[in-house]
Amino acid sequence: MQRIIVLTNLMINYNMKFLLQCPCSEGKANILLLLAIVAGIWLLAGWIKRVLKKKGDTLMNKIAKIAIVIVLIVAVIIVIVIKRHQSGEDISLATDAVSLGQAAPVGLPAEYKPENLVGKGLPALIDIGAGTCIPCKLMAPILEELEKGLQGKAIVQFIDLNKYPGAAKEYRISVMPTQIFYDVSGKELFRHEGFYSREDILAKWKELGVDLSEQQSKLPVFERLATAQNDNRPKENICYMCDGDIKQKILVKVQTDKGPVRLCSPHCYFIMYSCLTEDKNDFEKKVSVTDWTTGQPVAATEAVYLYSLDSQTGRPTIKAFANKASAEAERATSGGSITGWQILQEKELAHRCGFCDRAVYPEDAALVKADGLHTWGCCSHCAMGVAARTGKDIEVHEKDRLTGEKIIVKTFNGSIASLEPVTAVAWFGQRQKPDGTWASAGCFHQGFFVSAENLKKWVEQNPYKTGRLISINQALTDKMKLSPQQIQKACKIGECVPK
Ligand SMILES: [Zn+2]
Ligand SMILES: [Zn+2]
Repeated sequence: MQRIIVLTNLMINYNMKFLLQCPCSEGKANILLLLAIVAGIWLLAGWIKRVLKKKGDTLMNKIAKIAIVIVLIVAVIIVIVIKRHQSGEDISLATDAVSLGQAAPVGLPAEYKPENLVGKGLPALIDIGAGTCIPCKLMAPILEELEKGLQGKAIVQFIDLNKYPGAAKEYRISVMPTQIFYDVSGKELFRHEGFYSREDILAKWKELGVDLSEQQSKLPVFERLATAQNDNRPKENICYMCDGDIKQKILVKVQTDKGPVRLCSPHCYFIMYSCLTEDKNDFEKKVSVTDWTTGQPVAATEAVYLYSLDSQTGRPTIKAFANKASAEAERATSGGSITGWQILQEKELAHRCGFCDRAVYPEDAALVKADGLHTWGCCSHCAMGVAARTGKDIEVHEKDRLTGEKIIVKTFNGSIASLEPVTAVAWFGQRQKPDGTWASAGCFHQGFFVSAENLKKWVEQNPYKTGRLISINQALTDKMKLSPQQIQKACKIGECVPK
């Protein structure tokens, strides 16, 4: 008999502990609950004792009676706990917790009032709960992720009833947590009480006609599919890599199996070299540079180089000479250091694009931070590609191609987490191939801008550019959907640049 009583007490104790540990109940409210449970146990123990002492009943009958009562009590407790966990809590409990806890601030700060949160041209999701309720706690990481992932697309705001009990009245809620969905004009579309998963929230938005997976519809449509001017420059004056004008004094020529390639500078040569897919052994034997003094070709490995930094941009400038004496003569007037081919090559290949491995000058490139490490994107789109190549969240610091203004993009799980400024857009430079299809025009023809207006001005100033305006989110998505094989051959000569 004693054992049955002990066992019963153990079961009740277990459930009591479970209830008391439940974070749904708060602070001093627990003491009342504890007293109620102790009183219940005391009554129950007395009843069990009477049943066991009662004569006439068989032992089996007595145990059955006790078991039925205990099962009923346990069932009621489980139902209460599950209901609280799943469907949210009655708001009276929350306000009790508040009034019993720290001094409750009055009212709701203006920034949390509906008129200041919704109807701001973006759809809004307001979640009202308390940091202490279990379903609210489960919702917290979901809301944090949604807030990051939907930045610039929707407003996601959590309001803590522990801090701002006035929110319950302001938003007319009776259960916490409650999620309220608003359209761009601030009209309430739907509300849900209790825990709501990320997938269910996104599915609900879609059902309500708001597709948050894409931002495209909000962007101004802008494209230029034909050059504004015919490019009548003689082909031998156009750099194979960057399409820039070739100045004869710094021309670099490469004899390849497919014919001679003309480049505007040693730097464009090293960019090309860094993304060759063929065997690079003895490749430099095919390269000639131009003597700055005479304009005559010199074998690249035989030449001496005057290496200096542009005082405006900090970018290296490289002049080639047939002999050391003429290099020394130039250095006397322009400054710099004299070096040979080997050291020049090491310097030029020291910084590489974190996506496509091209040689870059950090001064020209986008800075990419990933996991505490710094790398570069040879163009804005390659910078986004670092997220795809490394699988990490990245932070990109890029410059507007028209004005040099700063643009900062942060990613989270392959989506845009934040964008500064939020108006920033991307130019996707594309060219039509002879078969009529469109392909990327290559890294030199991509860019980010702080606004669509800046992008349009830049396109106007560059009459040979063709392509279209896309969102920065789209620039990231385009990279995230590449396969590892596609990433491996990204921007390699022959893969990316249509010629
Ligand atoms: Zn070039
Ligand atoms: Zn690149």
